[in-house]
Amino acid sequence: MSQSRLQGKLYIVGIGPGSIEHLTKKAKDALLESEYVIGNGTYLDQIADVIKNAKIIRSGMGGEVERARRAVFLSRDHVVSIISGGDANVYGMAGIVFEVAEKESDIEIEVIPGVTALSAAASLLGAPVVSDFAAVSLSDLLTPIDLIERRLKSAAQADFVIAIYNPKSKSRRQNFGWAIEIIREYRSEDTPAGIVKNATREGETVIATTIGKIMEYNDVVDMSTIVLIGNSESRLWDSRNRIITPRGYQRKYEY
Ligand code: SAH
Repeated sequence: MSQSRLQGKLYIVGIGPGSIEHLTKKAKDALLESEYVIGNGTYLDQIADVIKNAKIIRSGMGGEVERARRAVFLSRDHVVSIISGGDANVYGMAGIVFEVAEKESDIEIEVIPGVTALSAAASLLGAPVVSDFAAVSLSDLLTPIDLIERRLKSAAQADFVIAIYNPKSKSRRQNFGWAIEIIREYRSEDTPAGIVKNATREGETVIATTIGKIMEYNDVVDMSTIVLIGNSESRLWDSRNRIITPRGYQRKYEY
């Protein structure tokens, strides 16, 4: 192994859902150590205060493969961070970076976990998850739509709490309504549903409603939104705009 390779390192950093307060200490340390920070504009802006001394490589949405190759190449002899919003393993950059890096046997890589949108949104809604859950992305750019449909149906049928990532984009405005129709086949109309837009950042919006009424808020839902659908035991705490999914304590204890 050459001397220069020994010095390089690639961090794949989950930077959290928005607010800098939700950037972990470990993520901050990795960013501060990095000579290069690579990411798309929105995420770089989110951590601008932390990366003042690094060389910044901005790349557009959709340029993930090129971004990953560049990060892997640079990390042969530089300390590099490639960033993902939320957590890098949740529809984030970890996958493509590892796929590219697999061909470069002696690169040192470390993945730093981050607070994913699901956790941020669940916290704002109170306790909507707590039990078994499934996350489904409605983005059909990389996943065939019939596979998305199969997974949605399975999750709905098996009574998982469901987190819907990527509910809409400019070119996929219909997917959200379509997904709700599928879930409604398996859940009652009064099943709680939470809409969280821009969790922990400017424009934060939190709505606790039901599956029966969720399409009334269709205009609120966009690509900065995550939607959480409760299971058959979930209930609304209406006056507080919160959702509670019982963990099962009520079956064992009185309280
Ligand atoms: N790696 C990210 C997810 C990337 S996919 C994570 O762990 O959170 C992008 C999708 O995540 C968006 O379309 C939206 O559904 C969700 N998302 C990301 N940040 C969000 C936030 N601050 N508020 C609400 N939803 C968010």
